Amino acid sequence: MDPHPPEPTAADAAQHQEAMGIALEQARRAEQHGDVPIGAAIFRQGELLAAAGNERELRKDPTAHAEVLAIRAAAAALGGWRLPGTTLYVTLEPCAMCAGAIVLARIPTVVFATTDPKAGAAGSVIDVLAEPALNHRPRLITGVRAAESADLLRDFFAVRRPNAS
Ligand SMILES: [Zn+2]
Repeated sequence: MDPHPPEPTAADAAQHQEAMGIALEQARRAEQHGDVPIGAAIFRQGELLAAAGNERELRKDPTAHAEVLAIRAAAAALGGWRLPGTTLYVTLEPCAMCAGAIVLARIPTVVFATTDPKAGAAGSVIDVLAEPALNHRPRLITGVRAAESADLLRDFFAVRRPNAS
């Protein structure tokens, strides 16, 4: 890992906002088939490699999280299991499975929107991405378009659990 990463610039911030917009679009699409609205997008050098939404309900597959689907598509696009030079954008803090997949794919940078206090594995519940015993630790950027992602999730659960507190 680069011990002296460049200071983030306003251009970087604008790029993160725009890229997260693709992930948010995927989250809205997931909601249309009854899945929890979570979306992911993987970029390399400003180019979109893959984007996916959560398809757990659609596929009846407990592993069909947005990040896993996007990682698989990006690996297919690059023709290898390592994803060097990539940035993964996701609307919700990754779970343990997805954080594990991020480490396995050697993704250098992860950007997420809002935290997941119940299952987040990038610091909220456990911290797979910063685990010193693992051989890869991605750079982490958080809070990009967090309110939009949180609103999507809140509205989704409000409709489905009208009596929940
Ligand atoms: Zn996950």
